[in-house]
Amino acid sequence: MAENSLPPHSRRMGAGHRLSVLVPRPFDGPLDYRSDRPLAPGTLVRVPLGRQELTGCVWDSQPSHLPVDFRPPSKGRVIAFEKLRFITGVLEHVPPLPEDLRRFIDWVAAYGLSAPGMVLAIALRAPAQAGNMKPAMGWVRKAGPLPDSLRLTPARKAVLAALESRSPSSTAMLSEESGASAAVIRGLANAGILEECLMEASSFTERADPDHAPPILSDEQAEAAEALVAGVEERAFNVTLLEGVTGSGKTEVYFEAVAACLKQGRQVLVLLPEIVLTAQWTDRFERRFGIRPAIWHSELGQKTRRETWCAIAEGRQQVVVGARSALFLPFAHLGLVVVDEEHENTYKQEEGVLYHGRDMAIVRARLVQGAVILASATPSMETLVNVQKGRFRHEVLEARHGTAQMPEISLIDMKENGPERGQFLSPLLCESIEERMKAGEQSMLFLNRRGYAPMTICRACGHRLQCPHCSAWMVEHRRRRILACHHCEYTQPLISSCSACGAQDSLVPIGPGVERIHEEAQARFPDARLLSMASDTLTSPTAMEEAVRKISNKEVDLIIGTQVVAKGWHFPDLTLVGVVDADLGLGGGDLRAAERTMQLLHQVAGRAGRGTKPGQVMLQSYAGDHPVMKALLANDFISFMEQEAAQRRPGFWPPYGRLAAVIVSAPKERQAEELARLLAMHAPRGEGIQVLGPAPAPLALLRDRYRFRLLLRTRRDIALQPLLRRWLDGAPRKNDARIDVDVDPVSF
Ligand code: ADP
Ligand code: ZN
Repeated sequence: MAENSLPPHSRRMGAGHRLSVLVPRPFDGPLDYRSDRPLAPGTLVRVPLGRQELTGCVWDSQPSHLPVDFRPPSKGRVIAFEKLRFITGVLEHVPPLPEDLRRFIDWVAAYGLSAPGMVLAIALRAPAQAGNMKPAMGWVRKAGPLPDSLRLTPARKAVLAALESRSPSSTAMLSEESGASAAVIRGLANAGILEECLMEASSFTERADPDHAPPILSDEQAEAAEALVAGVEERAFNVTLLEGVTGSGKTEVYFEAVAACLKQGRQVLVLLPEIVLTAQWTDRFERRFGIRPAIWHSELGQKTRRETWCAIAEGRQQVVVGARSALFLPFAHLGLVVVDEEHENTYKQEEGVLYHGRDMAIVRARLVQGAVILASATPSMETLVNVQKGRFRHEVLEARHGTAQMPEISLIDMKENGPERGQFLSPLLCESIEERMKAGEQSMLFLNRRGYAPMTICRACGHRLQCPHCSAWMVEHRRRRILACHHCEYTQPLISSCSACGAQDSLVPIGPGVERIHEEAQARFPDARLLSMASDTLTSPTAMEEAVRKISNKEVDLIIGTQVVAKGWHFPDLTLVGVVDADLGLGGGDLRAAERTMQLLHQVAGRAGRGTKPGQVMLQSYAGDHPVMKALLANDFISFMEQEAAQRRPGFWPPYGRLAAVIVSAPKERQAEELARLLAMHAPRGEGIQVLGPAPAPLALLRDRYRFRLLLRTRRDIALQPLLRRWLDGAPRKNDARIDVDVDPVSF
């Protein structure tokens, strides 16, 4: 790198050690630096880069750990030792990145064709800040008996006694407790009796108790739990799909595997698809294990983040629940990874470093010889195929827990029995909501669309309000009094005249969003207590907790929400779920649309009737004959998935083949298209390899960039990465044009 070949600083020539350091920047691999002393791989260091100073990690790339074909590119020109720049510091108080995490970072980078430094950046989000902050340090007593030579003054005795009651303890705390001066404490340290350690996370010293409140499992649950426990006890890599209908007690069952892992003294990571679900989950965990687990997601404060990170690295924190980025935590001895609702698309990271949380959880566990549990009522096609091929084990829960029955599902044909013009709730659905209210039960209306209306049109000239930066409609958010693009950050105030023809009061909303359903419900059920749950109105976990509390306390009659309400919630008094537009996800040319709609609707239906009262689900649809609707009515997820599989197998679409999307984008449409065509001309060829496109990408304009897409599809036995690398490394570099790769895209 150019920065690295700058003239050497005024340091001794020739002395020191060559260090390979990975920095959080998009280079192909680590950079070389010089250090006065050797440093072990994993050590976090401060290094100069150009005029900046960064936190990096001493690296030891080991291509042999990657599947053969995924070798990272070889290092460029080797820089003469004398010309290397010196590292500027070592983060002494921060635990090093363990070997398995370093290999994981290499793997994620190689698999997704991402720069390893950018993957490292995810892992460094917490500790990198520690470089600038002085961590709180405390004292612990070193293990072993006191040496005979030690002079035990009363002051020293008092210090040691104080440490018995609280350890680690800061200098201030120790002197207050013991009455001894700081000099006495320092003296004990110099004598080798005390040792300094990170003080933080004193709250992380309690241990979860695997036997705190074990459940009484049904026969079916016990059998599944036993198999999961056996998987953990093998202490070898294995994956089990825990497939169970909604309300069957999957959480209760996998908690048994968590307990088994805790008994081994190994750590557990549980991934949830939405951070808003963590509150309900941690409550359940606490009831079962007596303490709260650590939580990991992007909304944590810096201090908590740093404390949690260190506690995990030092093995003090045993259980972490979090979002996909928790995969990059420095576990000291990870034994089990649970991916709850494994079919969820939210596990796919769609910006920056692209990776699929579920798939990478499996990679992470393999690197530590750990067990994986994938839980779902509607497993993904990928997972089902892996079960079929014998790569994953399979445990099934067929019945809901206790006396709860599966809800009864019916379809409201909107062509025949739809509402009056301008309304979206059919008379049948409204009657059912009335009935539930009379019975003192709760109902839920589900519509997977934020805002008031997805489109606004001018009655005078037909103009539709569109985002100036994206090929997308502006969505009206009436409560916030704005129009917003759901694909970029662009918003504008509500307008009263058409921006094209200038006509006054001619703009009309087309179609419903949840806000509009809320408005309609308010008009129809004036006495009902309504609650809206949408990802843009309930943004923080605490706001979500408050909403969940209200529902649980029966302060709500009717819940109106977007996909956040579909997730793993357990509301025993909720007996009716109405799906406002069951056909919503089926449009568009995406091969996965049906699978996704099926999973979402099944999930939302599963919220009904989880307690003692029977549940009912009503789907408003114009497409009653669609295979998705038929499968939902027949409650037959598996035959539906078999039909889907039959469609994908011949063309070797995933999961029967491998797929990568190559997105070419540029500020000018012609620029993007030209480069895409050029790429197509040089596309890899051969038996079992196919390139489709270029065609305008599903969002043809995004954030002022025109986008074209090529799809590279190969047979399962052909690795994509080397083909992609050869192909794209040879691509011409054009100024403003960019090429992004998405291995295993979620939609195609
Ligand atoms: P799933 O995740 O499969 O939808 P949950 O794990 O949320 O189901 O379980 C549904 C409800 O049933 C929860 O309130 C849970 O506490 C309860 N439950 C499940 N199994 C048991 C059991 N063996 N003993 C007591 N309660 C249980
Ligand atoms: Zn936009």
